[in-house]
Amino acid sequence: MSPTLRELLEKIKISSPVRYDEPLSAHTTFRVGGPADAFVLVRTAKDVAEARAAAASCGTGFLALGAGANIVVSDSGFRGIVCDMAGLDSIENLGSTLSAGAGVRMDRLCESALGLSLSGLEFVYGMPGSVGGAVYMNARCYERSISDVLAWTEVLTVDGTVERLPFEPGSFGYKKSPFQGTGDVILGAGFTLVPGDGESIRAEMVDHRRDRESKGHYRFPCAGSVFKNDRAFGMPTGRIIDSLGLKGRSIGGAQVAPFHGNIIVNTGAATALDIKRLTDLVGKTVRERTGFVLEPEIIFIGDFEG
Ligand SMILES: Cc1cc2nc3c(=O)[nH]c(=O)nc-3n(C[C@H](O)[C@H](O)[C@H](O)COP(=O)(O)OP(=O)(O)OC[C@H]3O[C@@H](n4cnc5c(N)ncnc54)[C@H](O)[C@@H]3O)c2cc1C
Repeated sequence: MSPTLRELLEKIKISSPVRYDEPLSAHTTFRVGGPADAFVLVRTAKDVAEARAAAASCGTGFLALGAGANIVVSDSGFRGIVCDMAGLDSIENLGSTLSAGAGVRMDRLCESALGLSLSGLEFVYGMPGSVGGAVYMNARCYERSISDVLAWTEVLTVDGTVERLPFEPGSFGYKKSPFQGTGDVILGAGFTLVPGDGESIRAEMVDHRRDRESKGHYRFPCAGSVFKNDRAFGMPTGRIIDSLGLKGRSIGGAQVAPFHGNIIVNTGAATALDIKRLTDLVGKTVRERTGFVLEPEIIFIGDFEG
């Protein structure tokens, strides 16, 4: 009989801490999600590789987790190993390039750049997320994308090798990166910044955070925009949703934010299924009433059928 995941992880003596049946609601900004079979708080690239190999040899799932700010994990949880990347948290100043581990929170990276009077990351200050998640999603706000400042990405490829990939503009697009769906794990990234004036950098960062506060981003658990924008729609997705009277619509504890059509919030007791059903309802209503097909930006993980 082949070993269970737990037996295998105990046998390979992975050096990073491992928890079993860890509730993922504690690790997502929506505050929903059932347990992960195994949850590894990785500290080294080697442990990421070993955890992924263990998942493969047990024929079970593997998920690289950043700050959990763009995912909805199902109520039944995740079958397999979740690697919490937060332990890959180094930041290094290489002149005009800042190098950061995948687990570094974006706000911390922005504050480090500010401390060095390096400009380029101000736009992303206040956006929840990690370096790995921001690169994977090619996060975008205030008309700028992470790819605008990306110098290189270090990945653990599906073959188990570590490679530093220089930024290639053609492989990134609007909220698209070449890492989506490949199985590569982002270990870190370098960002090209330029010397700037500390006070101006700080002022822009503060402006962006205040703007998010005024738009209600931090008022309730959520994962930011639910659907992508699309120039072909002629207006932001949130405005289309508003125009159909969907603001405030709720299913269980999930609600289309009364203050923003493209944000679904957890009003307190939402389940992941509530969020999924409400997302589906909004997508269906928009399709039926306008013909526009919305593409979800948030990622649903796990089983939503059972
Ligand atoms: C209040 C709020 C406001 C937001 N505003 C914006 C916004 O303005 N613009 C925007 O683009 N997004 C926004 N978001 C969404 C979110 O902040 C971004 O998508 C962010 O980049 C997600 O990063 P994360 O580390 O939380 O990724 P996670 O949610 O942890 O993961 C997202 C995906 O990336 C993958 N991933 C994460 N780390 C790695 C890694 N190291 N290697 C490989 N794959 C990895 C995961 O497996 C998953 O598929 C917002 C969210 C919130 C809660």
